Amino acid sequence: MEKYSRLRDLVSGEQAIELVEAPAASDTQILYAHDPLYLIKIMEGKLSPSEQREIGFPWSEKMVERSRRSAGATVAACKTALTEGIAINLAGGTHHAYRDSGSGFCVFNDSAIAARTLQKEINSKLKIAIIDLDVHQGNGTASILQNDSTVFTLSLHGENNFPFKKEVSDLDLGLPDGCDDTSYLAALAQCLDQLESRFKADCIIYLAGADPHEGDRLGRLNISSEGMKIRDEAVLQYALDRKLPVAMSMAGGYGKEIESTVEIHFQTIKTALLFQKRY
Ligand SMILES: [Zn+2]
Repeated sequence: MEKYSRLRDLVSGEQAIELVEAPAASDTQILYAHDPLYLIKIMEGKLSPSEQREIGFPWSEKMVERSRRSAGATVAACKTALTEGIAINLAGGTHHAYRDSGSGFCVFNDSAIAARTLQKEINSKLKIAIIDLDVHQGNGTASILQNDSTVFTLSLHGENNFPFKKEVSDLDLGLPDGCDDTSYLAALAQCLDQLESRFKADCIIYLAGADPHEGDRLGRLNISSEGMKIRDEAVLQYALDRKLPVAMSMAGGYGKEIESTVEIHFQTIKTALLFQKRY
């Protein structure tokens, strides 16, 4: 949790970035991606002990509020990106949340909620690509959107990492443990090529997880800080070349040293800022 406040402090020192309080996602927006009975269980605190264990933290009013705002921030980032090019949620990327259950520190699936909200509130014809580079597979996102041809789900993740039962995204690439910069960036280029040939996106939701980094406790990959920067640049260049708006979320990051995770997230934001100026 502490990484979020540290990141916010760093970002607030950047003159060129406008920091906006995260709005809460409404019930209607949440229900574009979630089951009504699940939302009621969350709101009323009626999750069973095993459902709470699967999420990974206990239910509280604050947990509900935080989850709503974390999803609402990705919705807001998407809407802002449509007019400004790039916008970022300083949290979000809660991609393990399924339609009717939470998992792995994820209560609501912000990417699925945001993609559907754009289509419902802005333009029903918008096609959205979700590029999920968190080291864990975007299983909840893949599951919620599996029969939706208007949203493309791409997940580049550690094959031997959580979740151990993977879902089928539109494009999955599972990496071996210890994967280095060269193989990682080649795999990413291959994914972006496939995305280009298979889907005509109008905008991108990018989960810029910090957990592929070599200093991560849970990541199992071996990507350097420079490699992480080149990764972000590759996605942002892909979007800029096609003039596609990009909404980003921070997603995972569990550094052995919290500093290293905060640095990777902040590096992502500074990289995005350089690209934003070119829109
Ligand atoms: Zn992760």
